[in-house]
Amino acid sequence: MGFLAQLLRPMPCHKMLGKMGGSLEHAVSLSVPNDELLKRLSGRRTCRDCGAMYHVIFDPPTNAGLCNKCNGELYQRDDDYEDIISSRLEVYEAQTLRCSTTIAVTACFSRWTVSGGATTCWRAFLSRVGISKS
Ligand SMILES: [Zn+2]
Repeated sequence: MGFLAQLLRPMPCHKMLGKMGGSLEHAVSLSVPNDELLKRLSGRRTCRDCGAMYHVIFDPPTNAGLCNKCNGELYQRDDDYEDIISSRLEVYEAQTLRCSTTIAVTACFSRWTVSGGATTCWRAFLSRVGISKS
């Protein structure tokens, strides 16, 4: 099978939409700068006892290093260290490139860069698609 044929091979989302009588009409890829992702992910801390999650910048615990809910010790998971995050981002980019390229040639495709917290990103997304939320 040639490269272009492989690229245009139906993806699971195409099959699912086809079964529902629809088709993929538009796709949006939200992109967050890697330095912002590193900041978000490397600041996560998890409680050893109850699993509650915090962020050293965006959602710090009341007492540094201790869980607000159970007073358990907070730790940084192995996959939240910067070098591991960087490796995960490289794998993600390599594995999603083909998928986003396929969508780009088979549907109307938009690639948007977003930054800020989840609420800010969500509001920007709604605004871009023409939905206003009060
Ligand atoms: Zn806890």
